Amino acid sequence: MTTEPRARSDIRQRLGLRPIINVSGTMTALGASIVVPEAVRAVAEILPEFVEINDMQRKASEAIARLTGVEAGFVTACASAGITLAVAGCMTGADLGRIEQLPDATGMKDEVVIQLGHMVGYGAPVEQAIRLAGAKVVTIGQATEVRPYQLAHRLGERTAAALYVVSHHCVQYGQLPLDRFAGICHARGVPVIADLASEYDLRGFLAAGADLAIYSAHKFLGSPTAGIVAGSKALVRAAFLQNLGIGRGMKVGKEGIAGTIAALSAWERRDHAKVRATETDHLSLWLKRFDGLPGITASLEPDPTHNPLDRLKLAVDPEAARITAWELADALAAGSPPVIVRDHEVEHGFFYLDPCNLHPGEAEIVAERVVQELERVRKGGQAEGISAAERKARRFERLLRWPD
Ligand SMILES: *Cc1c(COP(=O)(O)O)cnc(C)c1O
Repeated sequence: MTTEPRARSDIRQRLGLRPIINVSGTMTALGASIVVPEAVRAVAEILPEFVEINDMQRKASEAIARLTGVEAGFVTACASAGITLAVAGCMTGADLGRIEQLPDATGMKDEVVIQLGHMVGYGAPVEQAIRLAGAKVVTIGQATEVRPYQLAHRLGERTAAALYVVSHHCVQYGQLPLDRFAGICHARGVPVIADLASEYDLRGFLAAGADLAIYSAHKFLGSPTAGIVAGSKALVRAAFLQNLGIGRGMKVGKEGIAGTIAALSAWERRDHAKVRATETDHLSLWLKRFDGLPGITASLEPDPTHNPLDRLKLAVDPEAARITAWELADALAAGSPPVIVRDHEVEHGFFYLDPCNLHPGEAEIVAERVVQELERVRKGGQAEGISAAERKARRFERLLRWPD
């Protein structure tokens, strides 16, 4: 999401934080997204006021229902919390005794089925969000292949729910499609929870058979940190009532709810074609600027889960460019201003530039920084000379030393 030109605040400078430019994507570790002005205003307006939170959640439910086309919804702390609360709701129903009993699942259905290729991490393992509710994870299939009988075989008396994950981290082939997956689950009366944290499509997955859909509000919607759970009234109510139990430690405040309602309305009114055109301009600028740079191959790649966006893939031939892709990523992150690229697969010799979270003028700065770093090594400046594995290990060591 790109905002209108505006005076930028100097809060990062005051806090002693680096003024990073995010071409990585909507990453929690980088502050997720540029919160839309409508949500920023709503948060500022609600913070000094008292509200009846459950009534506020009723208003959120109306907004979520309007945008998703299902009956009800509520706002959670984040999508990960939403997964846990949805699983818990499928285990307890609206039974308050059971809700208080969790995470002890004695006497309840306590198995959650998931395809092995969907066992991803988003900063924490998705299966831990299931186990947090007191449930057991039951995987089906192999990492790269799942057959319908394997799902049917593992659905039984103890199955509380099935989790379907849509993410670029998932294995992108050999998995059961959602409609097929849901069809098999529904034939056994098993509800399907869909983790759609990073998806733009607020309706399609529910239409395809998801009973509960989970979204991150702070990703493409541009809300403050929050999550959305949407589905039928009975299932949403059961998940919502977990706020009297394990949900307490994952609670969302008035600012998260107000921000999400405002971001949802803004999403309805957003000129999506204009946003896309701006992103396309950034991508074209980068393609043009990187064309013909020694050792660099730039190309456009569509989003792997079919969100309406492309990213620039920058492949680096270390012989010709005299730097590896990961060293270039590190040089960009270390320089001024720091540019953080999308580098999950960087050991393969490429990274991506994501055009979705830029303020005006930043796309140009990103292009200049890439060109600068490549010129520096071409003129004899040294690349660091570390392997991708060493780089990864070093990052972990840094994290483990926190707060230093
Ligand atoms: C980001 C993400 C999450 C976690 O979302 P939060 O709202 O940050 O908790 C879960 N699942 C997937 C697929 C994600 O991309």
